[in-house]
Amino acid sequence: MEKLQQHIKELYLEKDKKRPIQKNILKFIEEIGELAEAIIKQDKNNMEEEFADVLAWLISLANIYDIDLEKAFYKKYPPGPCPKCKQKPCVCNDF
Ligand SMILES: [Zn+2]
Repeated sequence: MEKLQQHIKELYLEKDKKRPIQKNILKFIEEIGELAEAIIKQDKNNMEEEFADVLAWLISLANIYDIDLEKAFYKKYPPGPCPKCKQKPCVCNDF
C-alpha cells in the first residue's frame, strides 16, 4: 500500500491539490458509481479497471490530507482475529 500511495503521490498530488476538493470527491464518487455498474453487469474486465480507479482516487484523497493509508488501515483493522468476536474468520452476526 505504501508503494501504491507513493506512486499516486508522485504522479498526481500536485495536480490534485490544485483542484477544488469538491471536484476530487466528485471524481471519487463517479468512479464508485462506475465500479457498481461493472459489478452489477458482471463485467469482469471493466470491474478490474474500475477497482483500480476507485483505489487510485481513494489514495489521491488520502494523499491530499497526508493520511498514511496503511497505518490507518491497520489501526482500524489490526492483524489477527476480529476485534469484536475474537475469531478468525469473523463470525459476527452483522448481516
Ligand atoms: Zn467478528
